[in-house]
Amino acid sequence: MPTDAVTMDKIVSLCKRRGFVFPSSEIYGGLGSSYDYGHYGVLLKNNVKNQWWKAMLQERDDVVALDSAIIQHPRTWEASGHLAGFTDPLVDCRTCKLRFRADKLEDAQCGRKPSKHPGETPDCDLTEARDFNLMFETTVGPVKEEGSTVYLRPETAQGIFLNFKNYMQFARKKPPFGIAQIGKSFRNEITTGNFIFRTREFEQMEMEFFVPPDEAQSWHQHWLAERISWWTSLGLRPDHLRLRPHTADELSHYSSATSDVEYLFPIGWSELEGIANRGNFDLTQHATFSGQKLEYVDTATGERYVPHVIEPAAGVDRALLAFLVDAYDEDEIEGEQRTVLRLHPILAPVKVAVLPLVRKDGQPELATEVYRELRDHVQAEYDEGGAIGRRYRRQDEIGTPWAVTIDHQSLQDRTVTLRDRDSLAQVRVPIGELVDVIRGRLGELWRSPKLDG
Ligand code: ATP
Repeated sequence: MPTDAVTMDKIVSLCKRRGFVFPSSEIYGGLGSSYDYGHYGVLLKNNVKNQWWKAMLQERDDVVALDSAIIQHPRTWEASGHLAGFTDPLVDCRTCKLRFRADKLEDAQCGRKPSKHPGETPDCDLTEARDFNLMFETTVGPVKEEGSTVYLRPETAQGIFLNFKNYMQFARKKPPFGIAQIGKSFRNEITTGNFIFRTREFEQMEMEFFVPPDEAQSWHQHWLAERISWWTSLGLRPDHLRLRPHTADELSHYSSATSDVEYLFPIGWSELEGIANRGNFDLTQHATFSGQKLEYVDTATGERYVPHVIEPAAGVDRALLAFLVDAYDEDEIEGEQRTVLRLHPILAPVKVAVLPLVRKDGQPELATEVYRELRDHVQAEYDEGGAIGRRYRRQDEIGTPWAVTIDHQSLQDRTVTLRDRDSLAQVRVPIGELVDVIRGRLGELWRSPKLDG
């Protein structure tokens, strides 16, 4: 197998250089592990989320959408178990004053001797581990008083459970059915790092699928298969993806079975998505804490039960990182080194670049006309600055799958060349057919050229 050119440093630097992701608050020296998404990052992120919505909503008729509040009634987190149990064990080092997750010491570096793990040098002086709640606390209202404490949600899932009753009434759904949402979550992580892999503010794509209790296991299997197929259909190389079932001592308090979709990041195999069988834990807890009945009642038969829940929960930022890592490649064209993102075309921030070969002889005018036509249909970009080779490289680096070049011949016969980012093949296409050709290519099955090495 050829070695992969990608490293985390290269991804971080490409993201900054080309406006995908910037460290946040940079003019003030930055704020650890906070990031801002730039123009191409926003486009890529939107494409990832749109593909998730497409698979969850558009292509199914048993899932509906929700966008719930970030700040919810504080009882939510008592009922969900987050207030008591959403903790990580934390240790402080009295010598270097750094703070570590007690269960992840082998991944951390000693503050004095980075080649060692905390606790490994004679100078290390670690405190006993104590539990640290990961929820961000804030207050509602002008006065900080009893009862005003609220939390930023650490997961989007609870908003779905709080709305279960509304959906039973308005959506007239009968299990099995699901409620999906995408939104920001917040966790005061003790150790962040690895770029956008683990941050304190991140976006999640979660779906709670409510099922009759005796069908929970088979629906869990269904969603494991669906989700793996979603990741591979968007181009992630199958040999870089795996499903890993949680061991009994890893399972969350609510889960009877969880499998993680893991991706082989440059930092090693790490979680991309968790797919859990949450049983009836959440609905039962919220029913107890709220005093409301949260169950399904079949009006025809009188049958009633508390549905069980299967939850596929993925991180948008981690997804973005995985797609970038999987796509990153370097090669050589005519003796020149190029960096190229071999993204699935459906995810690429820009689908097509329109480039006049020279900035004269009517070429920019015709190119502008072509660009205006294309941008009505797909995200397009017009670029007339610099040598044509340089402009191709710029587009390759942000993953643009196709470039349309307007040349001398275009003015005579209204044809253009269409260049492919990966094969570098160039074909002549009549301007009138461009939209259809690009649409056709976008609909084709795609496989990462990195698989063919
Ligand atoms: P981890 O074990 O990596 O902390 P988790 O098991 O706590 O993750 P879940 O609660 O299952 O994560 O959340 C679902 C998904 O949300 C994760 O698979 C991941 O993609 C994303 N996610 C969770 N925490 C973070 C974070 N701090 N930063 C970025 N994404 C996150």
